[in-house]
Amino acid sequence: MTTLLTTLPVPVPAAVPDAVATAVSRGSVLAYLVAALLFILALSGLSRHETAQRGNSLGAIGMGTALVATVVVALTSDPGRGVWVTALLIALALLVGATIGTTLARRVEMTGMPQLIALLHSFVGLAAVLVGFNSYLAPDPTALELGSFHLGEVYLGIFIGAVTLTGSVIAFLKLSGRIAGAPLTLPGRNWLNLGALVVSLVFMVVFLRTPEHSTWSWVALVAMTVIALLLGAHLVAAIGGGDMPVVVSMLNSYSGWAAAAAGFMLDNDLLILTGALVGSSGAYLSWIMCRAMNRSFVSVILGGFGGESQAPSPRPGAGGGEGAAPEEHREVDAATVAGMLADAHRVVITPGYGMAVAHAQYPVAELVEKLRSRGVRVEFAIHPVAGRLPGHMNVLLAEARVPYDIVLEMDEVNDELGDVDVVLVIGANDTVNPAAEEPGSPIAGMPVVRVWEAREVVVFKRSMATGYAGVQNPLFFRENTQMLFGDAKSSVEDIIKAL
Ligand code: NDP
Repeated sequence: MTTLLTTLPVPVPAAVPDAVATAVSRGSVLAYLVAALLFILALSGLSRHETAQRGNSLGAIGMGTALVATVVVALTSDPGRGVWVTALLIALALLVGATIGTTLARRVEMTGMPQLIALLHSFVGLAAVLVGFNSYLAPDPTALELGSFHLGEVYLGIFIGAVTLTGSVIAFLKLSGRIAGAPLTLPGRNWLNLGALVVSLVFMVVFLRTPEHSTWSWVALVAMTVIALLLGAHLVAAIGGGDMPVVVSMLNSYSGWAAAAAGFMLDNDLLILTGALVGSSGAYLSWIMCRAMNRSFVSVILGGFGGESQAPSPRPGAGGGEGAAPEEHREVDAATVAGMLADAHRVVITPGYGMAVAHAQYPVAELVEKLRSRGVRVEFAIHPVAGRLPGHMNVLLAEARVPYDIVLEMDEVNDELGDVDVVLVIGANDTVNPAAEEPGSPIAGMPVVRVWEAREVVVFKRSMATGYAGVQNPLFFRENTQMLFGDAKSSVEDIIKAL
């Protein structure tokens, strides 16, 4: 952004005294250091429920510090257009950015966060592409001293930015349901990706070897940009429904590397550091998500997983394969569920995306309090990819003031479900699907909460529809499962009344 602004041709000279320039330069180094430390503390705070809010505030203070320092640097390192013009341009950019950001943040529902995040990642990609082209057209003097190293930065920055840009746009379209979530499986798709990488490398050699701004260097740069845009779109289009959590965190990582690349081009240490923090934490999160889905990172990137079912073998209570008679499900009403809960000693609640859509976390918290006051042991079993973004359920339950110590990870509860009297599956589907244990199922291998091992299971949902991965759920037809149809919030409120 700074480079973009400082290259606009408005010839009004303004000099900044040397002493001021030195003070600003030293002050900005200090401010960037403080901001970087605050970002690290923010990341560490965000890793635990108890400290997440503080982590968020520290991140916001860090970003504010960085923003103020960057604006001061831009105002004092004026390239000759006049400080007021620079100030006006920055104010305009801030106004447009803040208006879009505030409007989106106010409007977005918690369940719409993944698509918003995907869209924001696409802006980071777009910024890296624009900074790259700008930096090639009008490099600053320090960049010129670096010669082909700077050209390498430009090339890689544009490549990473372009992949991030279109990959994020496709993720946004998939997550918001504007295009189908099923993977696009073009024949020889891995060869296509490999070919795109090889051709981009060849163009890189052409770009670095030909004179700057010659026809061939432009051909190489523009052709690589088009290839990278197509590659980003293809990479994400090939990833199917069940693997989308990994895509969200993977694009988070890409956007970090795109920002770091922009930092190299702009010679901005803070952008490099912040980009590296986002890039590496996103990569780590992707790894955690892959482990949660029992998938290898490479197989997710190569895509093609999570499409149509390959018809798992029919078995009693499995939801039926081809030719099997449609299985019956049993319905239950709120008063009966209240009776079951009143008699129970131990209850486990497995929340999912439907609880978020219905905003049912508040009555759920009230129900939990009521049951606990009657001496019932209540715990939550949280699947790592429940909902639509990492940590989604934990955030909702914390919002409703559910005590942290009863919100447990899936693995902490899974082996004890045989001792549980009642499991309430509130708006969850894929994360409690026993089909994951069937070879050939589109979600085969994904660890799930084994709720069917409990004595009674009550599933709260509105219909027999499938979950996000589009896979039928045999749990609904098990002998110990009963369906409580309706909006999750109203259903829980009805149970509270009946209790
Ligand atoms: P699912 O998306 O599998 O299922 C949610 C269920 O909630 C649906 O079956 C739906 O059934 C029900 N539901 C929707 N609205 C309501 C409502 N108002 N009241 C009651 N029920 C409702 O949810 P899970 O949390 O089990 O699984 C998450 C899925 O999302 C996984 O496939 C995961 O891979 C994917 N995903 C996760 C991301 C992450 O980072 N966590 C990111 C992107 C995708 P019905 O319509 O019949 O009511």
